[in-house]
Amino acid sequence: MIQKSKGKLEVIAGSMFSGKTEELLYRLRRAEYAKKKVITIKHEIDNRKSYKCIFSHDGALREAHPISSCEEGLDTLIRLTSESVDVVGIDEIQFFPPETVQIIDFLVENGKRVIVAGLDLDFRGEPFGIVPTLMAHADEVIKLRAICMVCGNEANFTQRLIDGEPAGYDDPIVLVGGEECYEPRCRNCYKMEKYLACSLS
Ligand SMILES: [Zn+2]
Repeated sequence: MIQKSKGKLEVIAGSMFSGKTEELLYRLRRAEYAKKKVITIKHEIDNRKSYKCIFSHDGALREAHPISSCEEGLDTLIRLTSESVDVVGIDEIQFFPPETVQIIDFLVENGKRVIVAGLDLDFRGEPFGIVPTLMAHADEVIKLRAICMVCGNEANFTQRLIDGEPAGYDDPIVLVGGEECYEPRCRNCYKMEKYLACSLS
């Protein structure tokens, strides 16, 4: 019996506006030039510009299959990434449920190259969903940085602003009323009150 060689997991992580989607689309385009069969997946929650496409901030565009977090959505993910696909690209991976880790593991074990892009930290500065686990499993981790909107240094964090003021740790994720936005910030300019469970002094 011929042993099939295994695949590879690449994780593109970073703050908002760090170019994660550009990097993902770049890698998928190159795989296509290399005559690989590529499939692109997105989460249906991300319908900011389009339900069936992903956009990068530099204006690149690619058609993608929107997947939901329910069981049916994960079944669709398994079906779409069947035998004939060589490369699986998934954008906004932080929105996918825990079971996705196992599916990705399975795909890599079965020879697929899987490339995922997502936020490594949420606006509270906490590890976001399954991204840290995938970073640990990855063959390659690409951590991208944006430019801090306050000082121009390299930014690792995503600052949430409500009516122009830094949001608190416990502010509701879904805001009713009030204007909110997000901007990349460096460690010095990022503002978040955190309560330490133990004293470090
Ligand atoms: Zn800064």
